[in-house]
Amino acid sequence: MPLYRPSDQLVVRKLSLCENGPFNFIAGARVAPIDTIGETKVFEPATRSLLCKVPCSGLKDIDLAVSSAKEGFLIWSQFSNTERGRLLTAVSNKIRYHLEDIARLEVKNNGKPIWEARLDIESCADAFEYFGGIIMALTGQHIPLHNDSFALVCREPLGVIAGIGAWNFPMQTATWKAAPALACGNTMVYKPSQLTPLTAVVLAELICDVGIPHGVFNVIQGAATTGSLLCEHPQVAKLSFTGSLPTGTKVMTSAATNIKKVTLELGGKSPLIIFQDTNMKNAIKATLMGNFLSQGEVCSNGTRVFVHKNIASEFLDKLVRATKKLRIGNPMDETTTVGATISKEHAERVLDYISGAKEEGAVVEYGGERVILPPPFDQGYYLSPCILSNCRDDMLVVREEVFGAVLSFLTFSSEDEVICRANDSPFGLAGAVFTNDLQQAFRVVRRLEAGTLWINTYNIYPPTLPFGGYKQSGLGRENGTAVLEYYTQLKTI
Ligand code: NAD
Repeated sequence: MPLYRPSDQLVVRKLSLCENGPFNFIAGARVAPIDTIGETKVFEPATRSLLCKVPCSGLKDIDLAVSSAKEGFLIWSQFSNTERGRLLTAVSNKIRYHLEDIARLEVKNNGKPIWEARLDIESCADAFEYFGGIIMALTGQHIPLHNDSFALVCREPLGVIAGIGAWNFPMQTATWKAAPALACGNTMVYKPSQLTPLTAVVLAELICDVGIPHGVFNVIQGAATTGSLLCEHPQVAKLSFTGSLPTGTKVMTSAATNIKKVTLELGGKSPLIIFQDTNMKNAIKATLMGNFLSQGEVCSNGTRVFVHKNIASEFLDKLVRATKKLRIGNPMDETTTVGATISKEHAERVLDYISGAKEEGAVVEYGGERVILPPPFDQGYYLSPCILSNCRDDMLVVREEVFGAVLSFLTFSSEDEVICRANDSPFGLAGAVFTNDLQQAFRVVRRLEAGTLWINTYNIYPPTLPFGGYKQSGLGRENGTAVLEYYTQLKTI
């Protein structure tokens, strides 16, 4: 094995914080694909102007990326936890240094408001810092046996991880996979969503620039076919997927063919339960955040809002008034609270759910329409946040994940009733309870079937906390110390 010295490859490159290719990143450099299977046009959601055209990678490119990751693994897995931790902390510092530029690129590609993008990128820096720190404390076990013998239990990396991400938190999704996977000594080939290909490549550049060996983090671009080819690659040890339930099902099926390990972070239809003694101002603020953050394009959003019947009409009235104050506009504008929907197709899908809900008897209390902004934003898809009342649990909009700013307002009479209705979903990603009764709060969250539950707050997920779903919302956990289990395997000696 060659002696590895970080100084051999340290390049302080000018980050390509723009929409220029090439967009694959293999063995320490941006490279054009050699085996393209089509191309995706990437639009800036704010204006719907063409940002770039990204070629989709075929099998030969995937082979190159996986080989690069295998070579990187030979070196990286031999580093001590301390060495890896130090380098991950350096990545965190780099992300913080470039935070504003990366956040602006994320907005350009995703359409979310700039202040949200800043928080996303800050959380990427937090994740590298956290995993850089905790990995230094990862140890095995020494187990005494009979007489003088003993056993050792070592925690070892898995090998090459295939990461596949969604478009709603592009760099954060890449980071939530890369930071813990790399900390444990694995290497990665990451495929971002075809809609948001840009910031994963920036992350790859930053990872390389601190002296992490070439090949440890690679990026390939493409859509469904590229994703499925990556999942099928025999040299990949594990699939770590974030996306929808239908695609997650395909990824898990693919993993089964050669028993790859798999982590799935899928969709949700989370309940937000508001009892009558709650602090209404706080509950309304959290309901807005838990529904309209990132144009509602958030997996953990609490889109089934259950309000106790005794406060329902006052709550609805105040909620509508607060929603009307949200500012729909240019995502780069500091005062914007609702940015642009990711794509025309997605906006139409969201609007279809709203028309379907109306046909089933729901009443639009506010929003749910396309808002045309002055040029150059007139081609962007801006939707007014939608509040639907008169909803029933059996409506499509109440059962399925819309993944847009559509809130279903439901009422309830008793604690048992609301718990039963909240749990009546194939999903189990998140949820929340709003009450001033501490005992009630803990009683209810204990009975709710979800991976993350909040009390009197919503959508808080620092990298220090495990995140993942019950039921069909996923398999495994990201973040917290829990994720280390999912990127390592035990060897008993
Ligand atoms: P998606 O399932 O359409 O795509 C996700 C990724 O999978 C993309 O990169 C896509 O190119 C790739 N892909 C598509 N077909 C594939 C295949 N056959 N094999 C392998 N890869 C394939 O999801 P999306 O529209 O990008 O994202 C929205 C979904 O993601 C929502 O359901 C949302 O709830 C979920 N999500 C979940 C979390 C979480 O942490 N639980 C976080 C963010 C988003």
